[in-house]
Amino acid sequence: MRTEFKLLRDEISERIKNQDPLTGAKNRASMLPTFHEHYALFERDKQDCALAMLDLDHFKHINDTYGHSSGDKVLSTVVECVKKLLRPYDSIYRYGGEEFLLFMPDTNLEQAEVVAERLRVSIAELRIPIERFQTEVQVTASFGVTVFTESRTVEESIDLADEAMYKAKAAGRNRVIAEV
Ligand code: GH3
Ligand code: MG
Ligand code: MG
Repeated sequence: MRTEFKLLRDEISERIKNQDPLTGAKNRASMLPTFHEHYALFERDKQDCALAMLDLDHFKHINDTYGHSSGDKVLSTVVECVKKLLRPYDSIYRYGGEEFLLFMPDTNLEQAEVVAERLRVSIAELRIPIERFQTEVQVTASFGVTVFTESRTVEESIDLADEAMYKAKAAGRNRVIAEV
C-alpha cells in the first residue's frame, strides 16, 4: 500500500513537473528529451514522426480588448480542444506564450496535415464565453507542419515547423502549411 502510494505520488509529481500550469499542455522541459528519443526510433526503424507549430492569430487583440485573464481562458480552452482531438500518444507542448508544438509519432506528413486541418476547423468553431463582457470570443490559429527526416536534426525540424507556421501567417492566417 505504501509503495503504491509512493508510485502514485511520484507519477503525479512527474506529471506536474512536466506540465504548463496555465493550459495543462506539456512544458518545454520535457519536450526535447522526448523528441530525441523518437528521433532515434525514426533513424533506426524509419518510424514517421510529425511536428506541427500552432500559433494563435491576432491573440494580442484578445488581451487588449478583454484583458489578460480572458486571454488566459482562451489559451486553456484551445488546449482543451486540441487535447480532445489528438490521439492518446500525441502531445501538445507549450512552446511560447501562445505558440504550441504538436508532436505526432507514427504520423506521416499527409496524415499530420489532415490532423492540423481538423484542429484548425475545431478551434475556429469555438465560441469562448467571456462572462465579464457578456460575450463570446472566437479565435483562429495558423499551423506549420513537418516531419522528421534524416537530413535534419530535431532542432532543425522544429525550426522548419516554425517557418511553415510563419508562411501560414503571411498567406493570410487561419491555415495549415506543410514543409519538408
Ligand atoms: P499573430 O497573428 O501575428 O500571431 O499576432 P499575435 O497578436 O497573436 O502575436 P503577438 O506575438 O503580437 O502577440 C502575442 C501575444 O500573446 C502577446 C502576449 O501578451 C500574449 N501572451 C503570451 N503569453 C500569454 C499568456 O500566458 N496569457 C495571455 N493572456 N496572453 C499571453
Ligand atoms: Mg499569435
Ligand atoms: Mg506567437
